[in-house]
Amino acid sequence: MKRIIYVSFDHLHPKYGALADADPKSDLIVLVESARMVTGASWNKIRLYFLISSARHFKAELEQLGFKVQYVKAATTVDGLKKVAKDYPKLPIISAHPSSHLQSKQLAEFGVSFIENDFFLTPRNLFTSWADNQKSFLMESFYRAQRNRLGILVEGGKPVGGKWNFDKENRLPPPKNYKYPPYLKHKADEIDQMVADELGISPSDTWGTSRKAAKAQLKNFIDNHFANFGPYEDAMTGENWALHHSLLSPYINNGLLHPAEVLTAALNAYKKGEVDIASAEGFIRQIIGWREYVNGMYWYLGADYKKGNHLNANRKLLPLFTDPGKTKMNCVKTTVADIKERAWVHHIPRLMILSNLALITGTNPQEFLNWMRREFIDATDWVMVPNVIGMGLHADNGKMMSKPYAAGGAYISRMSTYCKGCAYDPKLRAGDNACPFTTLYWDFLDRHKDEFVKNHRMSQQINGIKRLSDLPQLKQRAIEVLSGLDKGLI
Ligand code: FAD
Ligand code: SF4
Repeated sequence: MKRIIYVSFDHLHPKYGALADADPKSDLIVLVESARMVTGASWNKIRLYFLISSARHFKAELEQLGFKVQYVKAATTVDGLKKVAKDYPKLPIISAHPSSHLQSKQLAEFGVSFIENDFFLTPRNLFTSWADNQKSFLMESFYRAQRNRLGILVEGGKPVGGKWNFDKENRLPPPKNYKYPPYLKHKADEIDQMVADELGISPSDTWGTSRKAAKAQLKNFIDNHFANFGPYEDAMTGENWALHHSLLSPYINNGLLHPAEVLTAALNAYKKGEVDIASAEGFIRQIIGWREYVNGMYWYLGADYKKGNHLNANRKLLPLFTDPGKTKMNCVKTTVADIKERAWVHHIPRLMILSNLALITGTNPQEFLNWMRREFIDATDWVMVPNVIGMGLHADNGKMMSKPYAAGGAYISRMSTYCKGCAYDPKLRAGDNACPFTTLYWDFLDRHKDEFVKNHRMSQQINGIKRLSDLPQLKQRAIEVLSGLDKGLI
């Protein structure tokens, strides 16, 4: 053996990272299941099931390819590597550059050499050159540059379909009397069953845990969902938890799928005329735009970015986040119950229900971030930190988003079916039946009006406060709502 190749649980692809040029004759492959990852926090068990079972399947896949693989259980990743290094003291350890600041530091200190992390479409230095030349880091500017750089949906420097952005076409409420395609169910095998038994749960049929299953999920999306992805990408409904979302983030994030594979499949379907430009653009924007932008910003903004708390929000995590029985708010109850069941909800519940609630209640960003990290199947540092600190909670003083994503019940009422079965009324902002989102939205704007009045994108909303004849009653209701939320009674 000439080298030890460390493969982290988010680099599970035989053709990328340190495995790209690996040789079964001379490379020993090491995966480490660290106790810190399994028992270090009260992780959602569906998340653990997916990550651990995927890694164990990957070990088996590499062995089939002829590799010698050691799957080590240890207290920490470095402890696991120490164990292996004891048996092979002269071998260098290499890995693809880790996906988090912390692991980069820890592995570098231990002496691991890194090769470029090619699990993204944008090398980190390329993102830095883009960001260094920006006055503000607008995702839309990055995305257009990315379309041009990669030559995707552009002809002669112009966007295919005549515009860069089909957001207007893509913001429909949930459809009525609509037949959703059946969910793709994944069958558990022996490895899945063993992992589930260790965790004390049943295997999940929502999530596959092998590259074959990941490819089946991609095919299912392209064949059954892609054409309607665009129009309903922002809609939420109690009738169907996935709508037309791809459910691909866990697989792209742990390496079972490379973003280039997803992109190729999407472009092929578009070229064959299976989807219109609005859906094609809407989805491709997520893959080459949002995902790459978020990763780029994570590295560009540095390790301390996650400590941001610009709005000085210090409320403790509300009990409803850990126990959906602690709220009567139908939208929140349904969303948190869904997360308990599958460790996933799509981007609008993440942004406009969960983060919005944390934002307007003044919940501490780090407490909320830690909760999101623990619960979601696709959560890792590089993706959760910018999405929560920057996009969701505006805790970074607007480095990522030019205005906070705060909204009242009217938005949720328009984009979901949740309000019909709720104890509260989205139209009311004061009184016992007022929707907590509506009350707290105005209270939030009022609390931060001196800050937001300087932001021209917020001035219309801030001016709206002056038109509220019932502001004193609303402020009184906000006090009751916040106290009731703290006690799990609202
Ligand atoms: P689709 O809606 O089908 O989108 C396709 C793909 O685009 C996703 O699989 C994902 O890879 C990518 N994508 C879209 N938006 C983003 C984004 N903002 N950041 C990164 N990738 C994006 N995504 C994660 O992968 N992990 C997280 O921990 C995570 N946390 C989030 C927290 C908040 C507050 C918000 C607002 C968004 C977060 N997202 C996160 C982004 C997005 O919600 C998920 O990627 C998406 O819901 C996953 O479901 P899907 O695969 O069906 O996505
Ligand atoms: Fe959510 Fe308010 Fe609608 Fe109830 S009324 S579901 S709390 S937005």
